[in-house]
Amino acid sequence: GLSLRLSRVSSLVGVRGCVADLGSDHAGLPIALVRKGQANAAIAVEVVEGPLAASRRRVKEAALETRIDCRLGDGFAPIRCGEIDTVTIAGMGGKTIYAILTDQNALPHIAQEGFRLVLQPMDSAGSLRYLAKRLGWTTRADVRVVDRGVSYACLAFDVLGDACRNQEDVRDALNKLPPFETLPAALRMTFALGEVPLKSGCRLAHEHLEQELAARDRILCA
Ligand code: SAM
Repeated sequence: GLSLRLSRVSSLVGVRGCVADLGSDHAGLPIALVRKGQANAAIAVEVVEGPLAASRRRVKEAALETRIDCRLGDGFAPIRCGEIDTVTIAGMGGKTIYAILTDQNALPHIAQEGFRLVLQPMDSAGSLRYLAKRLGWTTRADVRVVDRGVSYACLAFDVLGDACRNQEDVRDALNKLPPFETLPAALRMTFALGEVPLKSGCRLAHEHLEQELAARDRILCA
């Protein structure tokens, strides 16, 4: 079965048409989504041959070759326009996820009405909340999950309303976007903590706040 971390990611997917899992490794997530009927079909993408071979083997063992396609490539590169309505990107650094989402190959997908993004960065979740806010994505979920003693942020966004303008507008917005690192420290901290988790008053969000504040104090004292 899936780890606690990935099962939380899977629950944020909801019920969808076709899900691309970028950096799928062993294709555990797409296999679970298709098996449970949360996705009709899925595409497991890997930039490294070894994990791609593992994905192919697992999909074959699960007898899901007709529903799950395994493709080699970087981020959205091997996905065609209109092929997917959802992307999952889990277990990577936030900066890598940010780079994948702001690459030109992401444009046709992130400008698509109703597109859903489920992201589980290992760090730097703030930059992803910032990107979502500046592109006008709707936050569906911003939660934390503890798996084997490690606390992970899990984020889900929908591209709705004004956010799904034409691709040129989205490209424009991306070109004008100041890098997250250039924001004032207090604003970066606000994104790092997340409005939603703090408002929810949940214990994990509170613990995360304490950790972030302690890290900031260490930096200020250094
Ligand atoms: N998603 C799985 C999970 O959450 O358990 C696997 C995470 S694994 C630590 C990260 C995977 O992402 C690696 O297999 C790596 O090859 C792949 N990866 C890294 N950058 C990528 C990119 N730009 N496009 C596709 N795959 C990528």
